[in-house]
Amino acid sequence: MAKRSKKAKIKGSKGAIVALVVIVVVFCVAMFVVDSNPTGVEVLDNLAHTVVQTIKNLLAGTENPEPPQPTPPVNSQTYNVEQIQQEDLSIHFLQLGSDKTGDCVYIKAGETDLLIDAGAENASAPTLVAYLNQFVTDGKLEYVVATHGHEDHLGAFYSQSGRAGIFETYQTGTIIDFPLTNKTNPSDTSVVGRYYLARQGEIEQGAVHYTAAQCFNQQDGAKRVYKLSDTVELEILYNYYYFNTQSSGENDYSVCVMINQYLPGYDPSNANNEQFVNHYLFTGDLEEKGEKKMVEYYNQQGNPLPKCVLYKAGHHGSKTSSCDELMRVVQPQYVCVCCCAGTDEYTDANENQFPTQQFVDVISKYTSNVYVTTVVDDYEQGTVKPMNGDIVFACTNGNVKMYFSNNDTKLCQTDWFKQHRTCPQNWLELQSQ
Ligand SMILES: [Zn+2]
Repeated sequence: MAKRSKKAKIKGSKGAIVALVVIVVVFCVAMFVVDSNPTGVEVLDNLAHTVVQTIKNLLAGTENPEPPQPTPPVNSQTYNVEQIQQEDLSIHFLQLGSDKTGDCVYIKAGETDLLIDAGAENASAPTLVAYLNQFVTDGKLEYVVATHGHEDHLGAFYSQSGRAGIFETYQTGTIIDFPLTNKTNPSDTSVVGRYYLARQGEIEQGAVHYTAAQCFNQQDGAKRVYKLSDTVELEILYNYYYFNTQSSGENDYSVCVMINQYLPGYDPSNANNEQFVNHYLFTGDLEEKGEKKMVEYYNQQGNPLPKCVLYKAGHHGSKTSSCDELMRVVQPQYVCVCCCAGTDEYTDANENQFPTQQFVDVISKYTSNVYVTTVVDDYEQGTVKPMNGDIVFACTNGNVKMYFSNNDTKLCQTDWFKQHRTCPQNWLELQSQ
């Protein structure tokens, strides 16, 4: 990454001092407000949170190198299958019909169908198949990406207990999956073992299989870029953990991909053509250290990651992903979180339940267009309901539309958010609308 000049550093530290003085003044005013108005405790709470966050950012030197792009208005549409089928490109974040958090992203580009992951568990398979059947009319998924060896990404690929999984239901063309796992020699009844067996069945029936490492290195006939339609391509991104084992878990082995969409006006002979390309980023459950290595790799190549129109929140909106180093580069305008908001599946600590407070604090610097598939309905009973529901991002001739099967309420305006999250400064005005 380019070093900041000395002048910029001096300017930066002056800016930090001015910002701190402003914060102290605002804080004093807030104390006065609270003093004179007993309902002002919330105001103080939000301000205290903002102060802590701002000081943290200043100390860490994580100011944005350039101002984030303004949040674009959302062109929200009523969910309509026929209309969605007409789009050049549609990217679907699926509700999984489960109280478990997991990923399943279906992408349709022209006649080509691509599925990234099939979570959240095997019991989700009928829900996923019913959804996909609305769009996959020829019984074939041309491309399947399986990001890493966890059930919340693999569970519905295989068949179990009389439930037909994705591989049994559809013919598959090319399967691209994780090169490494810590689960070596998995048993045939484990998640990874069942996935391998089902994948083998597909290969025997003619599917082509590559790991993301083969794709990235363009070995054995694998490609780094696959053309999905005249205007859309699938690009396998670099991940340090395709090639290096690590001990902390499976997440960092995640297959990372970019969907690139070329818009009218794009001229391949012109190097400065970025405004005519939309990029959409999917990093599975890759965590912070992998994200930083990815940013570093592309910077070292002299080919930094581009700004992205859409980003699937890394690792379901966990505090361990969507780090500022990555977000500062890709500056997403639309963010979709595949999770069940507020589930205690992984932790009892409210602030770390998906989507986490830390994720909210980082992402709010870039956009307020943040949407979540599912939310806990009854905490006692463990029942769930749709938040935005199935979320579809579509783009035809550069026109972005979003379709929601439940509603188009932004995360910061949901009841769940108001009850469980502290609203970041950038979202305060919007939340009060
Ligand atoms: Zn996951």
